[in-house]
This record gives sequence, C-alpha cells and structure tokens, in this order.
Amino acid sequence: MAELFYDDDADLSIIAGRKVAVIGYGSQGHAHALNLRDSGVDVRVGLREGSASRAKAEDQGLPVLTVAEAVKEADVVVILAPDQFQRHIYRDEIEPNLKDGAALVFGHGFNIRFGYIKPSPAHDVLMVAPKGPGHLVRREYEAGRGVPVIVAVEQDASGEAWGLALSYAKAIGGLRAGGIKTTFTEETETDLFGEQAVLCGGASQLVQYGFETLTEAGYQPEVAYFEVLHELKLIVDLMVEGGIAKQRWSVSDTAEYGDYVSGPRVISPEVKENMKAVLGDIQSGAFAERFIGDQDAGGPEFAELRAKGEAHPIETTGRELRKMFSWMKESDSDYQEGSAA
Ligand code: NDP
Ligand code: MG
Ligand code: MG
Repeated sequence: MAELFYDDDADLSIIAGRKVAVIGYGSQGHAHALNLRDSGVDVRVGLREGSASRAKAEDQGLPVLTVAEAVKEADVVVILAPDQFQRHIYRDEIEPNLKDGAALVFGHGFNIRFGYIKPSPAHDVLMVAPKGPGHLVRREYEAGRGVPVIVAVEQDASGEAWGLALSYAKAIGGLRAGGIKTTFTEETETDLFGEQAVLCGGASQLVQYGFETLTEAGYQPEVAYFEVLHELKLIVDLMVEGGIAKQRWSVSDTAEYGDYVSGPRVISPEVKENMKAVLGDIQSGAFAERFIGDQDAGGPEFAELRAKGEAHPIETTGRELRKMFSWMKESDSDYQEGSAA
C-alpha cells in the first residue's frame, strides 16, 4: 500500500518560516504562489524581463522580481516554468544565485529524471506535484478543499527534506485531499505514460477515430460530436466517482453489453503492446530526447503537429456547436437584464 499523508502529518510552520521564490506564473505557478501566500508563506514571484505574466502576479498583490533577484532572496526555489525551458533558466539564473542550503522544489520530475538539471548535492531537491491542472489547484484551495498531490525527495542534503516537502504540500492545500509518497522516477514515467497513452494521446485519438468513422459513414457531424466527444465527460465523471463499475451500472444494459463485446475489439491486445512500446520510449529517455531536441530547434515538429490537430474536422464542428451553447446563455442573460429594466 502506498504511503499516504494528510494535513495532520505536516507542520505548516516549516514552510512558513522560509522565503519562497516561485519561478513562473502560469498554470501551476499562479496556483502555488497564491495558495502559499494565503497559507501565510512569504512568497515572491521570479519572472524574466518583459514577462507577460508580470501584471497578473502584481494584480494579485504578489511581489515580482527577476528570476535572479528572487532566487538570491529565497530559502526555497520552486521551478514552475515550462519543462522545456527549465534547464536554461536553472543554468543561467538559478544555479549562480542559489543560496547555500536552499531547497529546490519541482512540480514534475522531467528535468531531474532525464538529467537535464543536475543540482549540487548540497541542496534538498523535492517534488510536490498536484494531480490536476493549476486552475483547479487554486479553485479547490479557495473552496477550502485541495487537489491530491504526489510528493518525492530526490536529495535530502539537510536531513529535513521530507518535513519541508510535506509542509509545502500542506500549504498549497494538497494534503487536504491527500498526498502519496513517490519518487522522481516513478512520477515522471507514470505521468508521461498516463498523458501519452490514455489521458491525452489515447483519448484524443479514440475520439477522432470515432468521429471519423461516423461522419465517413454519412452521419451528421453534430450528432457524431455529441456521441463521441461531449458525452465522454459524463462517462468519465462516473468512473471517477465509482470506477468503471459505476459507469457500467449507470448506463443501459444495452450499452453495458456493447461495452463488453466491442470494447476489446476496438482496443485490441495489440494496443497494449503499443502502450508497452510507448512506455519503453519514456523509460529509455527516447521521448524526452525527441521533445527537447525539437524544442531546441524552435519546436518545428510541435508546431506542425499542433496545426494538424487543430485542423481536424471535429474542431470545426465543436466550435460551431459550442457557440450555439454560449449564444443560448447570452440570450438568457440579455433577457433578464431587459426584464429588470
Ligand atoms: P506554464 O506553461 O503555464 O508556465 C508559464 C509560465 O512560465 C509563465 O509565467 C511564463 O512567463 C513562465 N516562463 C516561461 N519561460 C520562462 C523563462 N524562460 N523564464 C522565466 N519564466 C518563464 O507551465 P505549467 O504550469 O503548465 O507547468 C509548470 C510545471 O508544472 C511543469 O514542470 C509541469 O510539468 C508541471 N505541472 C503542470 C501541470 C499543469 O496543470 N499545467 C500539472 C502538474 C504539473 P512569461 O509570461 O514570461 O512567458
Ligand atoms: Mg504531465
Ligand atoms: Mg448514446
């Protein structure tokens, strides 16, 4: 059984007694910085010159410094810029300014696991990775709840890295939901696999093939969109609440029987072999090398793949349909304003 942590297992005063610099103010950065601040932690945000994020952080009342200035002041440096830029930021602005004994915190293990960042052994290296998007990390905290986190210590130079990691996890609200102990290797490899094989890659391809199969057979794209994309959320919500079993319990017997006979026909055993190959490329570092190689060349492959994805007919159909939903909402509010006048 995995080792679990909750609020009572952590001492908030550890992180509250340190100066924290959050580098990056995007999806995760804004959530960590604001949750830490609201938990009573002394936070500053480090951003590059001319950063588009500066105004957002300042509007929230957070002090914004250059990355170098923020790091110079900090006992704890949280690296929440995009994975592909972290090693440049680390080499140029973090490492040369890092205080003796300062701790490094990551939100994902990519750069440590694949050796793109190699901190000196004199520093604690921790990970507190929320298992949800940044906007939810903030929204849940504000609602008095939290998004579950996974926590790891790669280097324990101080001998007190675990206490700090749990204190940090508590301050961002993660231990209200619960924390699971992991390692940088396990987090990185399972995170990449999950997003590639199932959550992002697998689900996107499944939805696109479903849409193509129906529209190529002459069915209306709008109807196909609802069947293969829109309803997916409702099914996934049931899975999250009660596993695959609850989803099967809730759908009709017809749907449940169809699940058993056609699911394994669509996702055949060969797909599992493909998943193993994907996992192999993650474990060997081949995926990381391909991603970083492309990023270092300015991301041409990334741009091409993104453009191709956006050009898929399901996106056009979806855009038109969703406009219709918002038109209906707008019309409702117009009506209310009109009737109040
Ligand atoms: P974002 O893409 O949202 O980060 C953007 C922020 O990073 C902006 O504030 C941007 O500033 C800043 N930034 C970009 N380049 C630089 C630079 N060269 N120097 C300084 N700041 C820079 O990142 P995410 O929040 O998606 O990811 C951050 C980390 O969290 C990653 O390790 C990721 O794997 C992990 N993570 C992310 C999750 C998510 O929900 N997105 C979930 C769990 C983990 P500017 O305005 O100047 O561009
Ligand atoms: Mg990820
Ligand atoms: Mg149906």
